[in-house]
Amino acid sequence: MKILIKNGNILTMEQEEVLFGDVGIVDDIITFIGKDEFFQADYVIDAHECMVMPGLVNAHTHSSMTLFRNYADDLLFWDWLEGRILPIEDKLVGADVKIGAKLAIAEMIRSGITTFADMYMFMDDVAQAVAETGIRAHLSRGLTGTDDASREKIGEAKSFYHRWHGTQHDLIRVDFAPHAPYTCDDAFIGYIMEAASGLDTRIHIHLSESRDEVQRSLEQHGATPIAHMRDLGLFDFPTYAAHCVHITDADIQILKENHVSVVNNPGSNLKIANGFAPIKKLFVAGVNVSVATDGAASNNNLNMFEEMALAALINKGVEEDAVVVPAYQALQMGTVNGAMALGREAQIGTLRVGKKADIILVDMHKPHFYPQYNLVSSLVYSAQAGDVKTVLCNGQLLMENYQLTTIDEEKTMREANQAAKRLVGS
Ligand SMILES: [Zn+2]
Repeated sequence: MKILIKNGNILTMEQEEVLFGDVGIVDDIITFIGKDEFFQADYVIDAHECMVMPGLVNAHTHSSMTLFRNYADDLLFWDWLEGRILPIEDKLVGADVKIGAKLAIAEMIRSGITTFADMYMFMDDVAQAVAETGIRAHLSRGLTGTDDASREKIGEAKSFYHRWHGTQHDLIRVDFAPHAPYTCDDAFIGYIMEAASGLDTRIHIHLSESRDEVQRSLEQHGATPIAHMRDLGLFDFPTYAAHCVHITDADIQILKENHVSVVNNPGSNLKIANGFAPIKKLFVAGVNVSVATDGAASNNNLNMFEEMALAALINKGVEEDAVVVPAYQALQMGTVNGAMALGREAQIGTLRVGKKADIILVDMHKPHFYPQYNLVSSLVYSAQAGDVKTVLCNGQLLMENYQLTTIDEEKTMREANQAAKRLVGS
């Protein structure tokens, strides 16, 4: 199948300059950017008044938590987690997780996300949802454990890896996810490393999200969560770490030296009242920082345009420095840096000949984009998720002209509502 995206503004994310022209796709691969008069397309997409750019990479979420969206808001963290979320998570079955993931994927495609990294449970059901919808995903079974009985979950994670890693034309990859240092004891982290050893995989973990977590780690181990994970050898695996909010200069050095990617979740950190990650310092140190939505129960949406704007705005406010996290850097956080966190930068994250055709069209023919002084800035400071008009992932159209092509949206919303009602018992 040969697809031509025609007459668009093109932001490749290989350079800040916006080009004008066409993008050619053969099957799943970008074959040219610019003009090719000899390209015989089977299908043409008109990109007039649109920005053609790489699909966004949401490098940390818990997709099925869409089922708990707006169920437990404005609560203290432990009241939120232990009082409201964990009791209903106990009632989840695979079918719930699948419908929650599908709802999340519909929302993510609508906001221009073509790759997401997910940490949760019943991951076979999430993988089914991914396979049915055609999005790209890094999936990991969230692992918590402080006793030998929990080791069963690690076995589940390993067999999940063997069932799904590299499947669906490599759209699905499987990572290993020790949930966080405060939910896994040292022996359990050791078992996870043993299971992941020798596999083509990555570690997906929450690190230093709250002040309380760091305090407890210092008391228990005499080390910050980041130093402690380094000491255990976890960073011998390629690692992407969500949050990294309460971190020291020494932690930043450890992240840099061990090539750990940080996944910033500004919306979630604000809503759960955990604070702000020191993004400026991380960038200065040369750490790869991406941005993500976290789960919808603590955000409460999966809107990467909002997260990119928050990353830019919060850091300017906190640093009292208007040039910190400029628009192009926020866009890098949402695209190529996310691809690097997942080890996918050779395939996705920018538009380049030979890379996978994960491409979105943002409709800029709307009042909030005019006048058009600076299209790059407007993508961060003016764009809304609802401006995404067309989405391709791996050369397949997942949304065209605002219509989802692989998901029955009405049915998904209805089923998600039914599942949620059953879970909360109303
Ligand atoms: Zn999370």
